[in-house]
Amino acid sequence: MKNIENIKKLIAENEKFLIVSHENPDCDAIGSMIALGVALERLGKHVELYNKDSVPDYLKFLSGSSSITNSLDTIDEDISVVILLDCAEISRPGKVFEEFIKNNGYKLAFIDHHKTNGIDSDYIIIDEYVSSTGILIYKLIKELGIEINKDIAESIFSTILGDTGSFRYSNTYAETFEIASELVKKGADPGKISTYIFDEEPIEKIKLMGLILNTLEVDDSGRVAFLHVDKDMYECTHTKKEHTEGVINYARSIMGVEVAALFKQNHCNGNVEWKISLRSKDYVDVSKIAQEFGGGGHHKASGCKIKGSLEYAKSTLYSSIIKSI
Ligand code: 5GP
Ligand code: MN
Repeated sequence: MKNIENIKKLIAENEKFLIVSHENPDCDAIGSMIALGVALERLGKHVELYNKDSVPDYLKFLSGSSSITNSLDTIDEDISVVILLDCAEISRPGKVFEEFIKNNGYKLAFIDHHKTNGIDSDYIIIDEYVSSTGILIYKLIKELGIEINKDIAESIFSTILGDTGSFRYSNTYAETFEIASELVKKGADPGKISTYIFDEEPIEKIKLMGLILNTLEVDDSGRVAFLHVDKDMYECTHTKKEHTEGVINYARSIMGVEVAALFKQNHCNGNVEWKISLRSKDYVDVSKIAQEFGGGGHHKASGCKIKGSLEYAKSTLYSSIIKSI
């Protein structure tokens, strides 16, 4: 509670805020930003929202998504507080943001639910035992005495749907349903939101998924499954990274598979780099594997980057997975 009190004080004592979340934003990143943004505006604050990447098409139904900017050049110069959401490291919003933060004297606050979050600050709310960062925003909004309106309800409901895989993963708690129930009463329509997020896929994404699934490799033990997507595959299907969302679950869903990894080629001025999504089914803590490569995340869902050829990235990661399987 000490930390929530500190953040409440920070909000009370400042007028202009910048809210930021991680690159390649997902439901939790975007939904949390919008919900907190709406809440602070209702307190009469000036709020700006920044993400390095654009809002994925499947989240554009959220009202408020169009106010997210991907440039820091036009930020109000009187902003005094920057709040990072769903980020276990200050580097997660991207290099441009990291530089921007170094050169300005903002007060920084953090709200996050990753077990690998090691950030030390007076202004931090971390709880790894909540389904999404959006749930922490919900709790903060309640503490601030702000009424949950339909926009806030839809945004927070989306954070839960995304991070729990529609109430299926082991990060789904009794509290998740209690809060979800409250959000539905406040106007979040589960059927409508699920359709926007999961059932309005562009045909290009389905074609990309076909190509990615064709790269499937399962090791001799049957417990490790790899998929990859490279530049050519994006190009020939006219897709980008956001269109890989969810495909890794097919690799993890294979009977006997414990760890799945999806290698995504990054644009990285001249160097080849692979952004890796990691998932486990049960006992392997993939956040520990991700941390070996400078990444992080949750027990069953994490990410990291490895530079070098695809073969190098795969064999390096495989050596690490094998140690914990
Ligand atoms: P995804 O594979 O869906 O991109 O990410 C899975 C989880 O791992 C998410 O909670 C995400 O925030 C986290 N994650 C992904 N990449 C990184 C990374 O490079 N560093 C850290 N700390 N977490 C990551
Ligand atoms: Mn999250």
